[in-house]
Amino acid sequence: MKHANRGSGPTGPPRHRQPAGPYAPEPIELPTPPLLDAFPRGDDLQSMIDCSRRIVFFGGAGVSTESGIPDFRSADGLYASGGPIPPEVILSRTYFREQTDEFFAFYRENVVHPEARPNAAHLKLAELERSGRLKAVITQNIDGLHQAAGSVNVIELHGSVHRNRCAMCCKNYSLAWVYKAEGIPACPCGNIIKPDVVLYEEPLDSAVVASAAKAIAGADMLIIGGTSLEVYPAAGLVEYFRGRHLAIINKVEPEGVEVLKKGKRGKRTLIIARPIGEVLAEIEATPMRPAGGVNGAGRGGQPA
Ligand SMILES: [Zn+2]
Repeated sequence: MKHANRGSGPTGPPRHRQPAGPYAPEPIELPTPPLLDAFPRGDDLQSMIDCSRRIVFFGGAGVSTESGIPDFRSADGLYASGGPIPPEVILSRTYFREQTDEFFAFYRENVVHPEARPNAAHLKLAELERSGRLKAVITQNIDGLHQAAGSVNVIELHGSVHRNRCAMCCKNYSLAWVYKAEGIPACPCGNIIKPDVVLYEEPLDSAVVASAAKAIAGADMLIIGGTSLEVYPAAGLVEYFRGRHLAIINKVEPEGVEVLKKGKRGKRTLIIARPIGEVLAEIEATPMRPAGGVNGAGRGGQPA
C-alpha cells in the first residue's frame, strides 16, 4: 500500500499529516468511482469482444472491397442508345427478364469476382466463430467470401453468386459454370439459369430476414462493419439488438478517429473509423471460459 504524501510542495495545497504512533490508521486510497454505463474493462474493441459470448457481425460492401471487390453500385452502367443505364436498372427484375443478355454481360463484368480471396476481416470472423464467441455473420454481400474463410453460420440477406438454379427443373449450377457460359446461361431443359441473388424490385427472403433478426435479438454484442447504419436493411435489423456492446467499424468517418458515442436506448456505441480488415487483424480471438463461469464481470475472456 502506498503511503500518503507527507507535507506539501512549495506551491501545492496543505496536506493532512498522518498521526504518528502505533494507532495511526493505515492510509488508504479510494478506488476511482465507476463511470456511468462504463464497460467492465475499458472501452476498446478487444475488451468488448473478450467479455461477449454471443457476438453477431453485420457486414456490408466495405467488407468485400478490401478483397478487391468494388461496390457494383459504383460501376459504370451499360451504354445503350439513350445513354448510360445505371447499375440499379440493369440489376433489376425487369431488366433481367427483358434484357437478359445485357444483364449477364454486366453481371459477369461487375458483380462476379471469381478471383477474390477472403481478407483479414473474413479470416478473423471465422476464427471468432471457432473460438465460440461469434454466433452468426449476417452479410449484404453475395460473394461467399465468409464461407471461403471458414465461417459456418452465414446469413446472406442478398443471396449468393455461388447458388444458381434453373427455375424450371430446379437443377443447381456452380458459379464457375455460369461465369464461363457464353451469353445467357441455359439449362439443358431449355430454361434460363438464374443466380440466387436478390435483384432490385425483388423482396428480401422473409425467412432469411427473420433469421437475421433472431440472431441480432439474441446477441450480447453486435459488430457492424463496412456499411452505414442508415442503409436498409441495416437500420431496421439493428433495432432488434438488446445486447450491451455495439461496435461500428467503417472507414467513412474521419480517418483514425475512435470515439464513443451514446447509442440508442442508452447503449454506448464504439465507432472505429478505419478499414475493417486492419481493425479486425489486431483482434485476438481469446478462448472462452466454460459456461457458468465468471463472465462479463470485468475479467472475462482471458485464458484461465
Ligand atoms: Zn432446367
